[in-house]
Amino acid sequence: MSPRPTHSDVLVIGAGSAGSVVAERLSADPACSVTVLELGPGPSDPGVAALTDNGTVLPVGAGSPLVARFPAQLTDSPARTVQLVRGATVGGSGAVNGGYFCRAVPADFAAWDLPGWGWDDVLPHYRAIETDLDFTGPQHGDRGPIRLRRTAETVGSTALFLQATARYGYPWLPDLNDGAAPGLPTGIGPVPLNIVDGVRVGPGAGFLVPALGRPNLTVFAGLRVLRLRFAGTRAVGVDAVGPDGPQVFTADRIVLCAGAIGSAHLLMLSGIGDDAVLRALGIATVQQHAVGARCSDHPEWVLPTSWAVEPRRPVLEVVLSLGGDLEIRPYTGGFVAMLGDGTEGRPDWPHLGVALMQPRSRGALTLASADPAVPPRIAHHYDSEPADVARLRHGAELAYEITGATTGMGEPSWSTSQHLCGSVPMGAEDDPYAVLDEQCRVRGVERLWVIDGSVMPRIPSRGPHATTVMLAHRAAPFVLS
Ligand SMILES: Cc1cc2nc3c(=O)[nH]c(=O)nc-3n(C[C@H](O)[C@H](O)[C@H](O)COP(=O)(O)OP(=O)(O)OC[C@H]3O[C@@H](n4cnc5c(N)ncnc54)[C@H](O)[C@@H]3O)c2cc1C
Repeated sequence: MSPRPTHSDVLVIGAGSAGSVVAERLSADPACSVTVLELGPGPSDPGVAALTDNGTVLPVGAGSPLVARFPAQLTDSPARTVQLVRGATVGGSGAVNGGYFCRAVPADFAAWDLPGWGWDDVLPHYRAIETDLDFTGPQHGDRGPIRLRRTAETVGSTALFLQATARYGYPWLPDLNDGAAPGLPTGIGPVPLNIVDGVRVGPGAGFLVPALGRPNLTVFAGLRVLRLRFAGTRAVGVDAVGPDGPQVFTADRIVLCAGAIGSAHLLMLSGIGDDAVLRALGIATVQQHAVGARCSDHPEWVLPTSWAVEPRRPVLEVVLSLGGDLEIRPYTGGFVAMLGDGTEGRPDWPHLGVALMQPRSRGALTLASADPAVPPRIAHHYDSEPADVARLRHGAELAYEITGATTGMGEPSWSTSQHLCGSVPMGAEDDPYAVLDEQCRVRGVERLWVIDGSVMPRIPSRGPHATTVMLAHRAAPFVLS
């Protein structure tokens, strides 16, 4: 027998980067009861804080208790596969990530072309989430929970890369978050990091943990949501399973914040997706939608270098932006662990990453089984657009040219930035791919919102973390409006 159902005003599924902000914002109203259900361990579970606080390590290697892994196919011919990593703990991927906290550029929001999501609409929310310790003024926040700092003294591989780019005359961009240029500017600059004095403060630690004492906020960790429950087309609750067995939670409003993989997967398991696929798997369709049909990520080629490992540094301290769509990243280490290389005895070592920030290719995330324990199929199709492959090759050639005289470099290999977005996108009513309206409501269904990285109609030209946190801050009030 299931335990007694638990009812709240709002149920938040997933306490990741976005869910932490949504839960904190909604529970700021003492009259609103908020329950959060999170798959991974909570912040007070032994060892979690020590792993997530240390901003110089990505705690995502083999055996990490803080991640979930998903097989994914990067390219079609030949088929290259990797394990995608997602943070699974309070704070989500933002509790284990590289700390690069760089805003999208105004052109990204112009391309979204959605009411309420122009640069002037989002800037106050970028400001509200941060305290920038390097810059003040109208572009920057000075009282948000996420403290940002850029590395002032560069050493090791970062310093060598800076010297190499200086020889090429690339302009210095002191503040990648200033939003002055409409698109991605050309030049090199220090990465705004949510790692200060070696300590990572993501949205879990910055938003959710300080709110845990609120009597109207309850967080269940170590509990997997299996599917949503509907009364007709109204979302009314979820089935979950945790340490005490199966459990049902009901709510007046439900917000999916399970990330680009988790939110899409849960929607499809619950009957929101492609009707033919759902029927073939024996799932009754609640609402036909193109869930997972056009997701995107930043394809990346990684080049091993002869640079020495510089211990106790954030994984990425400077980036070179080029030609409006390329980022060249001198990783100090950590990138290999991120992809689960796991070769015994093999330490991380610095790589150069060449990432395509506005790829034409689109990936697909499809339901493989009605069993929630079976992961969805993820295919990035990174090599499906010859122009993307040409840009990556161009970037790799440039990387050789810039650093080759002073650095030994190996052959590039296909990889991913681990930035999956857009599996449940917002969009206009006549857009056949738009699962959500511009207020993150699932179209054709009542009382159900999705707020996380999956809702972005296009991937930002920068890493998505700062934009995911901003987006959650912007969208949380939509749930109560
Ligand atoms: C290793 C790594 C490094 C990265 N580095 C950077 C970086 O430096 N800069 C950058 O901009 N971006 C980076 N990213 C990407 C960025 O961290 C993510 O895009 C962002 O955190 C996603 O936020 P989210 O809220 O959409 O999802 P998440 O933060 O992943 O949160 C989803 C949450 O939902 C929970 N969940 C999922 N399914 C269920 C379920 N069925 N039941 C209950 N709970 C569930 C998960 O456990 C998780 O806590 C990185 C990502 C990874 C994985």
